Amino acid sequence: MIIAETTEDLQKVTNGWKAEGHRIAFVPTMGALHKGHLSLVSAAKSAGRIPIVSIFINPSQFNNKEDFQRYPRMVSQDIELLTKSNCALVFIPSVEEVYPDDFVPFSGLDLDGLDLVMEGIFRPGHFEGMLQVVKRLLDLVQPDELYMGQKDFQQHTLVRHMIQKLNLPVRLIIGPTLRESDGLAMSSRNMRLTPEFRAKAPVIFQALKRLMKINGTKDLPNAIKRAIQMIEDKGLRVEYLEIVDAYNLEKVSDPNSHSYIVACVACWAGDIRLIDNVVLKGPEQ
Ligand code: AMP
Repeated sequence: MIIAETTEDLQKVTNGWKAEGHRIAFVPTMGALHKGHLSLVSAAKSAGRIPIVSIFINPSQFNNKEDFQRYPRMVSQDIELLTKSNCALVFIPSVEEVYPDDFVPFSGLDLDGLDLVMEGIFRPGHFEGMLQVVKRLLDLVQPDELYMGQKDFQQHTLVRHMIQKLNLPVRLIIGPTLRESDGLAMSSRNMRLTPEFRAKAPVIFQALKRLMKINGTKDLPNAIKRAIQMIEDKGLRVEYLEIVDAYNLEKVSDPNSHSYIVACVACWAGDIRLIDNVVLKGPEQ
């Protein structure tokens, strides 16, 4: 596997691949890789693409300095995992490489309010930082396809919006959420859970799964209240649990008038913040 730390080294290789007619799939990550990340690499390979993974802990998407400092960093283990997964190239740029002094962030993109709900409320500035870095990495890597995980539902909804609005020449592919055998969504943050909260955290998915049975019910507020209670009974603290229209992220009151619905949750397990989501309906194909 090729390890590139500069854009010059990266593009030397990718230009060669492109000249040979290969199509490139890009998987941006913040490292501390797990099977969820690797599943995106496998999906890209199965589709016949050359997978490129980036590892970059983007300071500008952390609204909490301590969270940034404590974010797990384990690059040599990541490189080993990616090598075993037959990843073609890992791009590990420095902050200066991604944000040089003359870097001009794009501006003026109307996010149609997608950034003002759920994560946007509790992590102010997070999506702006995330979109800036995804756009910047897309400019550097110039992939044909961008692979992201369903786990970060609001994130990929915003990325799709940006791709459409800026007319970026890349196709977004979403991979399913990989889970531990007890249902907990895989996350780089899970390794920081205390054993006590690790044992309790599967309740998040259990509560979401219960919501999958709502069918045509109109009493969503009660269903949501019960799901929150179920999680909080285990000692986790729910920041939000919402049932939203998956296209515009607006709250759903009558499931019958929406074709694509998702339930999203964020909660604290001790001092670790976890998010998860499940699709309750749709999308219509
Ligand atoms: P992160 O390193 O957390 O920024 O995640 C990098 C990419 O991996 C994002 O597109 C995530 O949505 C995706 N991802 C993270 N966790 C999972 C998971 N459990 N299953 C599938 N994809 C995931």
